[in-house]
Amino acid sequence: MNLDRFPRIDLCHAPTPLEFMPRLTQHLGGPQLWIKRDDCTGMALGGNKARKLEFLLGEALQQGADHVVTLGALQSNHVRQTAAAAARLGLACTVILEHRHPNPDYAYLHNGNVLLDVLLGAEIVYRPGGTDMAGALKQVGDQLRAKGRRPYLIPSGGSNPVGTLGYVKAAQELLLQAREKNFVLDHVVVASGSAGTQAGLVVGLAAQASTASVQGFAVSQAEHLQHQRVAALAAATARFIGHTSELPPQAVRVNADYLGEGYSIPSAAMVDAVQQVARVEGILLDPVYSGKAMAGLMDWARTGRFRQDENVVFIHTGGQAGLFGFCDTLS
Ligand SMILES: *Cc1c(COP(=O)(O)O)cnc(C)c1O
Repeated sequence: MNLDRFPRIDLCHAPTPLEFMPRLTQHLGGPQLWIKRDDCTGMALGGNKARKLEFLLGEALQQGADHVVTLGALQSNHVRQTAAAAARLGLACTVILEHRHPNPDYAYLHNGNVLLDVLLGAEIVYRPGGTDMAGALKQVGDQLRAKGRRPYLIPSGGSNPVGTLGYVKAAQELLLQAREKNFVLDHVVVASGSAGTQAGLVVGLAAQASTASVQGFAVSQAEHLQHQRVAALAAATARFIGHTSELPPQAVRVNADYLGEGYSIPSAAMVDAVQQVARVEGILLDPVYSGKAMAGLMDWARTGRFRQDENVVFIHTGGQAGLFGFCDTLS
C-alpha cells in the first residue's frame, strides 16, 4: 500500500534499528525477543511521536500553518517531540500541559520533558487536572486565529488518522526488516495510550497481509475503553487510506493488567522491568509507557503465554526523558 499521496516531511532517523535481545531472551527462557528502537527516531531524544509528526506537520505545512498547538500531561513525550519538530520547521509552538499526576515532586514538575519543552522554546500553558483539554486546545486555536495566526491543532498524542499513518508506515518498515533478518514476525508488543501507535501497526500489518498479532498493553485506562479507542482509530485509519476489507475483531488486542493504579502512576512491576532491561540489555525504557508494557511482556514470557520459538518484537516507543521526572521512584 502506497502512502506517498499523503503529505509528509522527513523528521525521523529511519529505519530505526531492529535488534535481537539475546540476554533478555535467555533470562526469561524465551520467546525470541527483538526490540524495534523507535526510541532512536532522533528528534530531541527520539520516540514514537516523531513518526506521527512527519504526517501531521506535512499536512500543517500544506495548509500554510505558522503555529503548532498541542496538549498533553506534564511529562508528555508527545509535547516535547512536537516542540522540537516545530522548532526545526521554524513554526511557533504553544503547548497545553495538564497536571494529571496526583503527587508531583520537584523533578516531575520541572525536570525531564518539562525542562526540554522550555529549552525547545515552546510557549507553555498550564491547566489543572480534569480540565477539558480538547476544549482548551480549541480555545487556544481560536485565540491565535483572532490574532491573525494560522494555527495547526494536534490532538492528544497526535492520534488521529493522519498521525496514525506514521505507524502504518512503520509496520511496512518492520516487516521488511524481519524479512531481511530472516525471521517470521509472530507478535508485536507495544504500549497503548492515545492509541495511534497500536492502531497504525494493526492497519499497516493487515494491509500487508501479515498474520502477526499486535498486543497492546494499556497504560492510561481500563481494558474495554482502550479496546474501543484502538478499534475506532484503526477503523478510521483503514477508511482514510482506502483499505477496504474489514479488520477482523481479533486484530485489536488490549490488556490492562499492568496499568497499575493509573496513567503515569508508578507500579512495582514497572520499576522491576525498567531495572531488569537496563541491567540485562543495557537498554533504557521509560516509566510511563514502555516500562509498563515491558512488565506485561516479561510476565507473559514467564507464564508461557508465548511459545519459546516464537518471534516477539517489542516496540520501544521512547520516553526516557521521563526517567528524570521520576527520579525518586527509580533510584
Ligand atoms: C505516547 C507514547 C506511547 C503511546 O503511544 P500512543 O500512540 O499514544 O498509544 C508509548 N510510549 C511512549 C514513550 C510515548 O510517549
